[in-house]
Amino acid sequence: MALCPSTSTESVNINTTQAWHVFQHHFHFDPSANLIKMLTALIHRPLFQWKDVRHTLITPAIRALSHQKPPKYSSTVLLPRTNFPARLEGAKRLAQDQSIVNSTAFQSLYARQWTDWPPENTFILHDGPPYANGTLHMGHVVNKVLKDITNRWQLTKGRRVHYRPGWDCHGLPIELKAKRKTGTPDRPSPLEIRNEARKFAQDTVEAQQSQFQSWGILGDWDHPYLTMDPDYVEREMRLCHRLIQNGLMFQRYMPVYWSPSSQTALAESELEYNPNHKSISAYIKFPLCSESCRQLSIDSGSLLIWTTTPWSIVANRAVCVKSDAEYCLIQIADEFLIVGQAALANNPDLKTCLGDHQVIKVVSGQSLTHLKYSHPIKSVQGSEVEFPVLSANHVTMTAGTGLVHTAPAHGPDDYLVGLEHGLDLSCPVDENGCYIRDIGPELRELSVLGDGNTKIVDLLQASGHLLSHGDFFHSYPCDWRTKQPVILRASKQWFIDTTSLKSSSLSALKFVDIQPASWVQGFQGVLEKRPYWCVSRQRVWGVPIPVFYHKESQEVLSNDEIIQRCCELNRSEGTDFWWKMSAKDILMGTGVNGDDYEKGGDILDVWFDSGITWSTLPEVPADLYLEGLDQFSGWFYSSLVTGMALQKQCPYKNIFVHGFTVDEQGRKMSKSTGNVVDPSDLITGTKKKSPYGVDTVRLWVAAHASQSSSIEIGDSIMDLTKQTMNKIRNSCKFILGNTSRLTSREQLSSYEDLRPVDRLALLQLAVYWEHVSIHFEQMKFNLVCLRLDHYLANDLSSFYFHITKDRLYCDEEASLRRRSAQTVLFHILETLKASFAPIAPILAQEIENAHPVLRPSFGSRIVPENTWKDEKLESSFRFLFDLKSKLTKELGDSNLKNCDVLAVTKTPHRLPEDMDAQDLAEFLQVPKVSICDQLNYGSMNAKGDDIMVENEMLTLRASHTEGCFCPRCRLKTAMRDNELCQRCESVIRSLQ
Ligand SMILES: [Zn+2]
Repeated sequence: MALCPSTSTESVNINTTQAWHVFQHHFHFDPSANLIKMLTALIHRPLFQWKDVRHTLITPAIRALSHQKPPKYSSTVLLPRTNFPARLEGAKRLAQDQSIVNSTAFQSLYARQWTDWPPENTFILHDGPPYANGTLHMGHVVNKVLKDITNRWQLTKGRRVHYRPGWDCHGLPIELKAKRKTGTPDRPSPLEIRNEARKFAQDTVEAQQSQFQSWGILGDWDHPYLTMDPDYVEREMRLCHRLIQNGLMFQRYMPVYWSPSSQTALAESELEYNPNHKSISAYIKFPLCSESCRQLSIDSGSLLIWTTTPWSIVANRAVCVKSDAEYCLIQIADEFLIVGQAALANNPDLKTCLGDHQVIKVVSGQSLTHLKYSHPIKSVQGSEVEFPVLSANHVTMTAGTGLVHTAPAHGPDDYLVGLEHGLDLSCPVDENGCYIRDIGPELRELSVLGDGNTKIVDLLQASGHLLSHGDFFHSYPCDWRTKQPVILRASKQWFIDTTSLKSSSLSALKFVDIQPASWVQGFQGVLEKRPYWCVSRQRVWGVPIPVFYHKESQEVLSNDEIIQRCCELNRSEGTDFWWKMSAKDILMGTGVNGDDYEKGGDILDVWFDSGITWSTLPEVPADLYLEGLDQFSGWFYSSLVTGMALQKQCPYKNIFVHGFTVDEQGRKMSKSTGNVVDPSDLITGTKKKSPYGVDTVRLWVAAHASQSSSIEIGDSIMDLTKQTMNKIRNSCKFILGNTSRLTSREQLSSYEDLRPVDRLALLQLAVYWEHVSIHFEQMKFNLVCLRLDHYLANDLSSFYFHITKDRLYCDEEASLRRRSAQTVLFHILETLKASFAPIAPILAQEIENAHPVLRPSFGSRIVPENTWKDEKLESSFRFLFDLKSKLTKELGDSNLKNCDVLAVTKTPHRLPEDMDAQDLAEFLQVPKVSICDQLNYGSMNAKGDDIMVENEMLTLRASHTEGCFCPRCRLKTAMRDNELCQRCESVIRSLQ
């Protein structure tokens, strides 16, 4: 198709492609359209006039091709000007992150706020110490970033913040690593192990600290607390001494969870449960003594018990029954057995293994307590030893046979029965989980979780005392570090009396706000269930329990003089003093004869180390403890118990918990699945993937980590987060570009001088700030992110930025209208920046650096002024928005620019007081508006093709504009074609 414009002096043939390019260049038409479509669209517009074809297509095409170009006005248009880059990718992203994190403004913030800000009402977030072992994972990112967002929000409000990061430095994993590193890994001395462990922990702390700081985490990094520091060890020894003195910590021989793989006692918080552990289930016959058989009028018979730990039969000392239950004497062929009546009914497994049987008689549990039996394995206990049948409350009929095998050394209930009835409490299993030598040649030194267990089954089978056995899969406790199964084993240990602290702890918990609240009950359950807390460990990398034992009587010695001496030695000799010095040397000058005593060989549980971290705080309770949800049975628990025991108060006012990271399919991260995400790879990139940078990763934390127990991470989530980050960046760039010419706050207009729509933008800003403030306060950072996204998209990009562009670009530079928009943009940038600074502090700093007039984000009390919340203005604009949307619906968004509008005002709702026709034209995005009062105008009807909309405030009549296209502002505001409009004319004149 060729166009032959007859109006031109030169006859030029142009093809559609050329025309399309000219068209596109001048009018930014939709590039997906073609010329025919464009023409069709033009013709079918409401209010179409043929001159549109001439204006928008033919004239520019002819002009371009005949070199009759319009005068260039681009240099007179104030387009946004800023060096702030729209994007920062790859190496530039990394360099920017690094330079800002290392800048003085960033580095000195913590110290400045701590020294300069008012100390009243300091916000204390107490850092749960990460373990100084290994590299950091996404869980650390989630935890530290959530804490940092919280702290930075407090700073934004102008509140001074106390955040002293800490590390948990002791414990078995480090000790085992250190042991391998010593020159003599077979038998290293405690001092060799401690030396290596200290070095390892120190190196790890340094490496982790530098990574935490690179994530922009604010804190007292010059003074972290380390549980291995001499002052911390001193503090811990003193607190431990106090607990012993006030009787809340005591030594007792008791069955505790014992890890043969680590050769130490474990607290419940150190257990992990394997839901599918394989044990041996066995029904075992305990032969009744002849006198007991006589009482039952049988020749021979047995008590039938069920166990999943056949190995513990060796330590059997009694069989317990429920005295108020009924039991049956049953006959199978010529054999007699006693089982619980209800157990027989409840337990199908028992029925199967008994097969055909006859109930001979029913007897009471109480009557069974007169019976005696002998051990089913003769080589363990000769048949002449008789054991009792006892009544006990813990016996149930829901599982097993209703008769309970009782080994006091291997179970807490069994132990209590043993204490009550004076049974032998000794334990036949050593630290390695093997039978002791005294036990007899068949079993000695066999592992109870391995060969020992199967050997017992063989022996029972051989002696005819095994009714049946098989594999049994169930949930079973394992050592959380070695992942190997544990056993219950009696040994002499130190305990904290959590039972006596239970009711005060539960009462104190009522005053703690736990988020999410769904965890409150679970935490109460942990407090209610634990009868005691075993705090002694038989290792060397830790804080010694500073007590001595009398060499003969084994009586415990601990007093104020001794603890004082220990603390002095800890200071002068270092934390190794306990292992470096003899008991005699340590006790020197304490008035005790050192020759009579030996040092204790136990160290304190690492949960005790971290449990007392509250003692490092300037003030207790802290405002907030923020950790993963597993800490209800860990740090939250140990802190509460030690706080109640030593301070009679809970060390925290609020608890906030977060979940764990999973991949995008919701799977747990594990090396075997190969879905582990390394934080360094995300932040600083890999060969295959460019870096996301610090802020994008922090934004991911804010958007996902504060509302759910599973926090998904993966490429698509991160790419979306990066897009959001770029949206924030671009909005800021737009404002920076339009306000860069402002060099002082004095240039800002006062509120009264602002145009109505600018005051509306401030009102929207105030509402936005109010909403994000509430979300930050409630730690619902995901809602902060959603509100931010909504504000950027709806209030800024598609509304305020859009309608003020003409004023900003084309009005005279210092005009009041332009300055009014600039002022508002400046306020928006300052508040917007403060609203995302806790989440993306690097971008906030980058923006501050780009515009020196902006106030810093933290502590400048950027609270939108109350006057900004003008309710009258808001209600007026509600009517205007309603009319605009009606008009747009009738005309289509792009057609507004071809319409002049007559606005006839009604009552009772009025236009904002100082809103003039120009303001209304800008708001509606039409070239021209005339306003008149209904009284003067009378009634109005639509004429011809005019469009009319109305509501209680105004009637708007839109008719095709009389105006012509202005080549400078590109609006149809000129009197004649290709001439400047009045406004542009005046701007150009002012420039000459
Ligand atoms: Zn103009």
